[in-house]
Amino acid sequence: MINEQGLFDDVGKWQRKILNGYWIVVLISFVAEIVALIIKMKLEPERVQHYLIYKMMIPTSVQVTLVTVNELIERYYRKSFPLLTILTGTLIGAVLIYGNMRVIGIQYVMMIPMLVAAFHFTKKYLTFAFLMVIAELAILYIMFPLIWTHMTIFERFALFYILTGEYLILIQLLHRGNDLLERLVRTSRSERDLLINNTIMERLSKTDALTDLYNHRTFQEYLDHLIEHCDTNKIPLQMAVIDIDNFKSINDTYGHAVGDIILKRVAGILQQSLTSDEIIARYGGEEFAIIFPEKTLDQAFEICERARESIYLLNHLEMENRRVTVSIGLSGYVHGMDKSQFFREVDSLLYTAKKEGKNRTVYPHDIEQSVPFSGHRGF
Ligand code: GH3
Ligand code: MG
Ligand code: MG
Repeated sequence: MINEQGLFDDVGKWQRKILNGYWIVVLISFVAEIVALIIKMKLEPERVQHYLIYKMMIPTSVQVTLVTVNELIERYYRKSFPLLTILTGTLIGAVLIYGNMRVIGIQYVMMIPMLVAAFHFTKKYLTFAFLMVIAELAILYIMFPLIWTHMTIFERFALFYILTGEYLILIQLLHRGNDLLERLVRTSRSERDLLINNTIMERLSKTDALTDLYNHRTFQEYLDHLIEHCDTNKIPLQMAVIDIDNFKSINDTYGHAVGDIILKRVAGILQQSLTSDEIIARYGGEEFAIIFPEKTLDQAFEICERARESIYLLNHLEMENRRVTVSIGLSGYVHGMDKSQFFREVDSLLYTAKKEGKNRTVYPHDIEQSVPFSGHRGF
């Protein structure tokens, strides 16, 4: 059986359609009775009163009451009751048979409740409808033998045979329907899994496993795209390259594993210091790169400094509480500039930062430099 959530959430919608169908059946049988009444008035005027009471008023009011009660119960409980609706269907059918006893084949109206039950794609509802239909036909047979007297034994057998056949065919139809739904669910589930896998794969191919930042290739792609965007829209674009100072000594002194922890931690702090507009990547070994779209050089500098200070302020337990520092080169894109030229410029500013004592951010053309904290040096 199908359990996928949401697949059978629309019971209420179908119940509404079924009840509307019942109202239509009641209306059609009422119109037919009016036509029959007109004919009767011409052919058998003496039986009009009997017809009016027993064939029109009583059956129609019983049918209207049945559907109204069904409506009221569902509205009161704000819930659908498929079994009640199936029962209402069989009772409407019984009233139709009672009201049209002499009409040949009227008993086949009892096929309707089973069709209604099949709407819910539930075997037990269908079995319930079948049993109700058989029970009601038996009761009608006992109470109003007239219904049957004009049918031959073969016609009675045919009625039972056809109703049973309908039940068995509908059961098979439900199996087929459920089979199709299961297949549909399986397919959509595997499509969803594929989509998730693709998303994961895409993410993995874009990021660096250790730091979870974008990798070098993705960074280059973003940079290409942003340079183009910046050229077209004449908006500012800044880039920073950050390099951990003396990282080789950290590895040499505390081991590669500690080196990895420090790399990850520095990456985390850098990321936390950024707004959602920036793009940060692990550019290479212990080097990171940040693109600042739509930020001025001053704004980018402020962010770099905040990050550099946060990194400096941290004492690392794994390194006997020693500090780690970073050097940063920062520069702005000049429209029309070549990408590698832009990168070389930033890299040369990083080189200047290293040369001038590390733990600092260097602006272009040596205009401005940040100063390390109160003479403390990192590792
Ligand atoms: P500087 O201050 O001039 O940048 O000196 P440095 O020691 O940081 O620079 P250098 O280029 O000499 O050394 C970088 C080191 O980073 C060498 C390499 O073993 C290490 N490294 C690169 N990738 C990783 C990594 O993923 N994990 C670890 N633990 N170390 C790495
Ligand atoms: Mg370094
Ligand atoms: Mg380096």
